[in-house]
Amino acid sequence: MDAKTLLELKEMLLKEKGELEENLSRIAKPMDKKEGDYETSFDDIGTDREDNATEVGEYTDNLSVEVTLEKRLQEIIEALARMEDGTYGFCENCKKEIDIERLRANPAAKTCIKC
Ligand SMILES: [Zn+2]
Repeated sequence: MDAKTLLELKEMLLKEKGELEENLSRIAKPMDKKEGDYETSFDDIGTDREDNATEVGEYTDNLSVEVTLEKRLQEIIEALARMEDGTYGFCENCKKEIDIERLRANPAAKTCIKC
């Protein structure tokens, strides 16, 4: 892969990473331990029974969104790490180069189309 394409894909990854982090920060708190690790916030809006039900409902909704966003964020962080160590763009499974069009569609792809 040439440097220009790599840079282009890196920019795509960084842009998506920024968007994911922004969305995550609205519903979750980043954990200190590891980059890209979030904990869904639990908004304590009140203590009566109705407030508690709303809190739990919101928390459950946020939790499933958070899991999806966090999973995607982890994939992006891993892809950026692969760019650093030079293994980016190769299929995790068969070790062949991943098609550039596939990477353009999903720069965090770990496997080729066949795998
Ligand atoms: Zn493969």
